[in-house]
Amino acid sequence: MKKIALQPAELFWQDKVPFASEFDDSYFSQQDGLNETRYNFLQHNFLAQRFAELLLDPQKNVFRIAESGFGSGLNFLAAIQLWQQVWQGNTPAGELHFISFEKFPMRLQDLSRVHQAFPEVAEQALLLQAIYPPLLPGWHDLYLPEWNIRLSLWFGDIQEGFKECDSSPMGAVDAWFLDGFAPSKNPQMWQASLFQNMARLSHAETTFATFTAAGIVRRGLQAAGFEVKKDKGFGRKREMCYGKMAHKRSVSSKAPWFERPEQQNLPQVKTAIVVGAGLAGATAAYALAEKGVHVTILEKEEEVATQASGNLAGTLHPLITADWNQRSRWYWAGYQSAMRWLKPWLFEGKVQGDLKGLIQLATDDKLHAHWLQSKERVGVPQEIARWVNEREAAELVGMDRVSPGILYADSGWIYPRSVVETCLTHPNITLELNQQVDEWHYQQGLWQVSAGSQIYQADALVFATASLDQTLNSALKAPLRPVKGQVTHLQDSDLRKPLQMAVTHGGYSSPTASGHWVSGATFEAPDMGTELSLAGHRHNLQAAEVALPDWLQVTADAFANQQSGRIAFRPTTPDHLPIVGPVADWDFMQQAYLTQSHTKALFQYPRQAYLPHLYISNGHGARGMISVFLAAEMICAEVFGQALPLAQSLYYASHPARFQIREWRSGKRQK
Ligand code: SAM
Repeated sequence: MKKIALQPAELFWQDKVPFASEFDDSYFSQQDGLNETRYNFLQHNFLAQRFAELLLDPQKNVFRIAESGFGSGLNFLAAIQLWQQVWQGNTPAGELHFISFEKFPMRLQDLSRVHQAFPEVAEQALLLQAIYPPLLPGWHDLYLPEWNIRLSLWFGDIQEGFKECDSSPMGAVDAWFLDGFAPSKNPQMWQASLFQNMARLSHAETTFATFTAAGIVRRGLQAAGFEVKKDKGFGRKREMCYGKMAHKRSVSSKAPWFERPEQQNLPQVKTAIVVGAGLAGATAAYALAEKGVHVTILEKEEEVATQASGNLAGTLHPLITADWNQRSRWYWAGYQSAMRWLKPWLFEGKVQGDLKGLIQLATDDKLHAHWLQSKERVGVPQEIARWVNEREAAELVGMDRVSPGILYADSGWIYPRSVVETCLTHPNITLELNQQVDEWHYQQGLWQVSAGSQIYQADALVFATASLDQTLNSALKAPLRPVKGQVTHLQDSDLRKPLQMAVTHGGYSSPTASGHWVSGATFEAPDMGTELSLAGHRHNLQAAEVALPDWLQVTADAFANQQSGRIAFRPTTPDHLPIVGPVADWDFMQQAYLTQSHTKALFQYPRQAYLPHLYISNGHGARGMISVFLAAEMICAEVFGQALPLAQSLYYASHPARFQIREWRSGKRQK
């Protein structure tokens, strides 16, 4: 297994200016780093005018900068300062999206030390330091909502990062900051592929600027289609260069079947119907409502959160694997999104729960071996997870004895219903209970949805129905399987002492908002029974007893005649990732792909076609607490034509058409 752990930047200093040992080069000018940035990157990309132009062009709701080499983030600080100056006293008209790639990220203490030399951007530096992510490979999506700024930081090699950028027009870059040590000191970065990828991710008006005028850079940019001009360099530097896209070439897609819907062909969304009032539906509705969409939620039951979203506690923590596989990466993005939504709500007392820690207790020797491997290969930073011994683990959970385990300091449990209810308080959301959707079709630019005798209509339609309605699932071509889970509810009198922190142990045991405790859950597919069973309680309590030997006072037999528990069905998918995104036009899929040879050259296949503004968020399985928030953001990005909130390969990985496409591409599908 490949080691992917990051190598943090090792710095040495000359007169307050940091140098990278790896490259033996300085991060910026020894004379005046901040003004060098302003001159090279801001001025030569004409950012002051272009930021202000957002006001005049309501169609353009984002300005996107991409940078090669984040380093200390000085360029970012200068750019956001300019953004703030342009919008002084006003809400920014649109978003500033700053993408940056960094193979050797600085440790937070180094970053802060660099910033000390620039008191002019001290305010911006504090904002960056507060959101600077742990040094984990891949994308980190960070937000400064008060300024409408999104920072997408790729930790890893820029070439790998390019593959994970949103290559649709919605992700196109407006201005490039081509930084990254002198070409002579860092030839590995300044290759033809750098310029080709820049061109691929640009639009016809994209500009660039760079501190260097080296021949290899000018020629590479010209070959990729940019017009290159020279200007006087900053300080002692003789020349720099800048320019704009001159010949935008079309590039064929590597996955035409997962290409995002083309926005220009779609009507604007002012109204939406969301089917399902569980976590997936409520969060999707909230994300849309926040954007001004009037949302009607249709729920077939007489109350909200009737399936897994109705459990007393949902635990959440990152999914760490030694190979940091696709699921780990998807759920890491989901976890980050969950934290963005939940932490303020928890702080404001809107949702109930506790995110002050969760321990994954070792029930055998395998967890420790797995942890050592993950630490070595992925380089999981301490602030995300660390190993705790028996004594520390016991103290944290409030027991005398427990096994050691992995402590996720920022994780814990949440009362899912409180999230659903918080979402539903949004003034743009109307909830309609007892509405079982039986038909829907698109007519004259609107979705017409009938539920019994009622007919609803809206610009967009989102299905977030969990898994029990197989007619609906097959209409949406969503291979969902309900997996029954029984949880056991425990009272004070059932316990010897209170459990102070949520733990997982194969299953999980957790405090809850009602002052009770919960242990669970069973995995019982294909059982569709809805009666609590003694066998289920026994299974839950045995698992809890092994992990927490001095917690329980009660034995499972005491539950023989009680109803203390709950049954819910988790919607699961064959690859254990959720199904999120736009729903493809099935007739088109058949004709364009599934009935065609699967071995043609990629450019011979047309791009995917979708039903207009029809979306799905489902298959959240047992990890809904760390997937529904990202899913809601993904749907919102689709509805409003924004850049993806996750790596492109992860968008593909949870794409609603993936099952049929994968089967066809593997040659297994019958025509
Ligand atoms: N923009 C930075 C700032 O504001 O502090 C300075 C950038 S510094 C001149 C160049 C950066 O590029 C370094 O942080 C270096 O680690 C990074 N870098 C070099 N090669 C890279 C590669 N192949 N992929 C990603 N980042 C790279």
